[in-house]
Amino acid sequence: MTKDFLDWPFFEDRHRALADELEAWCAANLDDEDHGDVDSACRTLVRKLGEGGWLSHCVPDANGRMDVRSLALIRETLARHSGLADFAFAMQGLGSGAISLFGSDAQKAAYLPAVANGGKIAAFALTEPESGSDVASIATTAEYADGGWVLNGTKTFISNGGIADFYVLFARTGEAPGAKGLSAFLVDRDAPGLDDRERIDVIAPHPLATLKMTDMRLPPQALLGEGGKGFAQAMATLDVFRTTVGAAALGFARRALDEATRRALSRRLGAGTLADNPITQSKLAEMVLDVETSALLIYRAAWLRDVLKRRNSREAALAKLHATDSAQSVIDKAVQLFGGLGVTRGVPVERLYREIRALRIYEGASEVQKVVIARAHLAEYRS
Ligand SMILES: Cc1cc2nc3c(=O)[nH]c(=O)nc-3n(C[C@H](O)[C@H](O)[C@H](O)COP(=O)(O)OP(=O)(O)OC[C@H]3O[C@@H](n4cnc5c(N)ncnc54)[C@H](O)[C@@H]3O)c2cc1C
Repeated sequence: MTKDFLDWPFFEDRHRALADELEAWCAANLDDEDHGDVDSACRTLVRKLGEGGWLSHCVPDANGRMDVRSLALIRETLARHSGLADFAFAMQGLGSGAISLFGSDAQKAAYLPAVANGGKIAAFALTEPESGSDVASIATTAEYADGGWVLNGTKTFISNGGIADFYVLFARTGEAPGAKGLSAFLVDRDAPGLDDRERIDVIAPHPLATLKMTDMRLPPQALLGEGGKGFAQAMATLDVFRTTVGAAALGFARRALDEATRRALSRRLGAGTLADNPITQSKLAEMVLDVETSALLIYRAAWLRDVLKRRNSREAALAKLHATDSAQSVIDKAVQLFGGLGVTRGVPVERLYREIRALRIYEGASEVQKVVIARAHLAEYRS
């Protein structure tokens, strides 16, 4: 696979060095098998990623900054080698992101070093059975009573649910109706009244659970940042990590293109190989186009935030939408090029086919990204 993209002006030498080091680390430390026991596999991956120093990129550096280009490069590379390794890495960042952005010094000191060394597993609990894309309709309540918070409600589809050491959880504190009445809380897994045992089985297995809060008690200092700002905090966290979902999709697509190209070059078809066939070449050209355009959009969005220090909601939405939707198409073409072998369980393209699907749904479904893009576009014309 060509690494020419690392020469693009979006990157600095430290990014090129990071990509090389991580490539070597992945080759030595990861496999891309389906894991029977995903809980134990994820715990091991978080520990290994912590020991390797990679999780330190999930929390702010000494200057208080997170580098989205590094996060994206790491996710792209991990996803190319192992979907579960990418998942383990990404959740440390997403799960602790609101602490990095809005936590007090005491909250940061209590959680972030352990996130960075793999000592604590993080999770982000926003979605509810009746509130997915429509975050403003969150129904979980948090009331202040007897010197602490009391939470009641249900969260679902929570990645790392059941194995997380803590959750950043969003609940309704009622300062105002809708989006303006939400707050974020730090919930340790042993919080009295929390039940995270109900698991959800998905087509690309990873730890995923429903959380039930029944008079769950939290101390006053569990409130993260200012009360009533939970919606803005959740969106700001997603703004950092949305570009990196696109990067994970790009990693899956690059792997599929690599697998399909090798297969096409070696598979006999008539007097030549599959790769000699013009229809195959047309497919490969479309796959290359999708991979390259995704990479351009992803690293443009990351660069805009890191270097120009601009809010990049529009560009992150473009990157996530295009990279996830087009990765689905690239992987589908790869399965087609593999023929019957492509739908055989355990073959990399079959695993990628299952792994890519959820990325078009979580952290804002493709349709939600279109809403963001269209709103920004129309605002330009209306102003
Ligand atoms: C594998 C996986 C992991 C997840 N991990 C987490 C996690 O760690 N933490 C967490 O909080 N949540 C997580 N989620 C939940 C995820 O964020 C939600 O599934 C997602 O936000 C969509 O919500 P929903 O499932 O309720 O679908 P709905 O909100 O019911 O939407 C259904 C569909 O309607 C369409 N749609 C939605 N909004 C619009 C719109 N405005 N315009 C047009 N069409 C629209 C889209 O096609 C969408 O897929 C995860 C989900 C999955 C599948």
